[in-house]
Amino acid sequence: MDALTDIGSLSREQLAEAFGVLGLPRFRVGQVVRWLYGRGVADFDEMTDLPAGLRAELSRRYVIGRADIVTKQLSEDGTRKYLVRFEDGTSVETVGLPDGDRLTVCFSTQAGCAMGCTFCATGRAGFSRDLTCGEMVRQVLLVAGDFGRRVSNAVAMGQGEPFANYDAVLAALRFMNSDDGPEVGARHITVSTCGILAGIRRFAEEPEQFTLAVSLHSAVKSTRDRLMPGVRGVSLPSLREALVAYAQRSGRRPTLEYALAAGVNDTDGELRALVGFARGMLVHVNLIPVNPVAGAGLDRSVADRVRLFRDTLLQAGVETSVRVERGADIDAACGQLRQRHGG
Ligand code: SAH
Ligand code: SF4
Repeated sequence: MDALTDIGSLSREQLAEAFGVLGLPRFRVGQVVRWLYGRGVADFDEMTDLPAGLRAELSRRYVIGRADIVTKQLSEDGTRKYLVRFEDGTSVETVGLPDGDRLTVCFSTQAGCAMGCTFCATGRAGFSRDLTCGEMVRQVLLVAGDFGRRVSNAVAMGQGEPFANYDAVLAALRFMNSDDGPEVGARHITVSTCGILAGIRRFAEEPEQFTLAVSLHSAVKSTRDRLMPGVRGVSLPSLREALVAYAQRSGRRPTLEYALAAGVNDTDGELRALVGFARGMLVHVNLIPVNPVAGAGLDRSVADRVRLFRDTLLQAGVETSVRVERGADIDAACGQLRQRHGG
């Protein structure tokens, strides 16, 4: 017999199509989605408002892939970092960040990443596989369960490049946003990309008000190429153009992520290039002191440089903030937890 399909690999449309083929009424789709992504059940038998025959039929065709928290690290500031393991033993990192009324989940979109950014622990470790949409939604549900409260924000800033797994990511965002799922507001769901142009263009056309962040890290081509070899083929003018078009089309302000590393992308020349890139477009620059990861040879910029970057950008009329570091005491840098546990 063929291996059963993981129901978590299907988008809502694919689920509706499959149920249509089985001759099931449309409302069954919403019912099953509520069990899967509203309640987070692990077994079709728990879907108690489905007829027993339908539960048996679903069990014959599908499995609900497991997702379990295997380790959890607690930070003094309340941040919790998890290693989540899926059915096939693949594991990823997920982070929960409580902040007043808000609970933000930073979820992974791939196990590993093929983009090879030199400052990133995930990039240094290489690529394992894409995650399914169900595996992304389940990270949100696991964190909600662990904190015992509603998730208000979700950011695709864990492991992986979301636009290298576009369809599954979009399907996941829709389940997260759905009132059959954890109901995270579209504006409170952010996708962060290293700058894959086709993805940015597609994302601009999506009807939902999802938020976009782009990891820039340098507006000098040679520096960016060195830091982010996976997007060498993307020129800075074309990236800027795609962001301007995105802002025009969606009416939304994208964020530029810029991790400051001493002597690498925090020099006066780099600052001039960054101001030149960001000035005059609808954008928000987020400055982050780089998180030093083993083997990368990068040090955090000193506070004076961070301030100079912020003040110069603000003077040029560019909306800018400095990201407060969270969970620094629990291996905050992307990919470190997984590396340490050898997952
Ligand atoms: N692949 C996507 C999203 C995952 S990475 C992307 O690159 O945007 C999430 C964010 O963490 C990105 O902005 C990335 O550049 C940043 N990041 C990765 N390693 C980092 C480090 N060592 N210090 C600071 N930021 C880092
Ligand atoms: Fe991948 Fe993002 Fe890390 Fe680059 S920064 S290697 S794109 S996860």
